Amino acid sequence: MSSAQKQAVHVIGGGLAGSEAAWQIASLGVPVVLHEMRPRLSTAAHKTDGLAELVCSNSMRSDDRDTNAVGLLHEEMRRLNSLVMRAADGHQVPAGGALAVDREGFSATISQTLAVHPLIEIRREEVALPPHDWDSVIVATGPLTSPALAETIGRITGESSLAFFDAIAPIVHRDTIDMNVAWFQSRYDKAGPGGSGADYINCPMDRAQYQAFVAALVAGDKISFHDWEKSTPYFDGCLPIEVMAERGPETLRHGPMKPFGLTNPHDPQTKSYAIVQLRQDNKLGPFPASSVPSSLGSAACIATPT
Ligand SMILES: Cc1cc2nc3c(=O)[nH]c(=O)nc-3n(C[C@H](O)[C@H](O)[C@H](O)COP(=O)(O)OP(=O)(O)OC[C@H]3O[C@@H](n4cnc5c(N)ncnc54)[C@H](O)[C@@H]3O)c2cc1C
Repeated sequence: MSSAQKQAVHVIGGGLAGSEAAWQIASLGVPVVLHEMRPRLSTAAHKTDGLAELVCSNSMRSDDRDTNAVGLLHEEMRRLNSLVMRAADGHQVPAGGALAVDREGFSATISQTLAVHPLIEIRREEVALPPHDWDSVIVATGPLTSPALAETIGRITGESSLAFFDAIAPIVHRDTIDMNVAWFQSRYDKAGPGGSGADYINCPMDRAQYQAFVAALVAGDKISFHDWEKSTPYFDGCLPIEVMAERGPETLRHGPMKPFGLTNPHDPQTKSYAIVQLRQDNKLGPFPASSVPSSLGSAACIATPT
């Protein structure tokens, strides 16, 4: 049977999963229709119309294929000709042992590759109810599935409480960081597959600064929740920073702000009480802060442990 005679597979959602699915199916010679609702209808977190837009962290976590399950998964995907991995490798930014990417370049490569593939048709439309005559359908609409489709899925499955609750990482402009205080270093100087051993910007705090920071977090204004959000349980693997701070004054210092494996070159004798690690977020990073016009300022986002 030729490609033209084969029934198309319909993939709903052009995020990471849907883009990879479309690529893999088309690579096997089967036509695909990829339905992506953006930019006609967006989600609360996406900002662009690009396929495979990363909405939060630009890290795909550890790239160590020998000792880490996530790194092994990366390697398996590479061997399976993964488009997501090819784009990630092509747009890697330094992040020690983690695989982090320039999110715009990553999304652009995936968007362009799928757009020119002869067996892939991209339709910019929301699918609220897959028509009966679609033979093969993959639903890859992610955690921010449109309300209409979520309603359909709820009705078909009888599930009444489909919900997703997550934290989003802030982005700090590189030229706002005082490098007389902060310094570049990866934890334990780990170079990792794509780094140099000095890939993170470390912002130290002494005890008084840390305690003031935690107190300000706990006392600070918080976003108020919609009624339907109030009883949603937090996902412990990705907690909002203020929720961690509320769990105890030492929680952050023993979690994402742990000071271990890092030495402050400005004051090597003094141990920092806590450290905020920032990871590079785009490819502008190598420029020294002073030479980057603020409109082009490279960004860093708070790193989560790999
Ligand atoms: C606020 C937030 C923070 C997150 N932080 C992280 C993180 O730090 N690290 C991490 O690994 N993961 C994080 N995630 C999870 C992240 O969404 C997934 O890792 C990844 O994006 C999932 O890929 P996906 O393809 O399943 O979904 P997505 O990438 O979200 O793609 C789904 C696509 O489907 C489209 N769509 C939705 N409904 C319809 C419809 N009815 N018709 C047509 N198109 C539709 C959307 O526009 C979107 O493009 C976060 C998610 C959110 C919401």
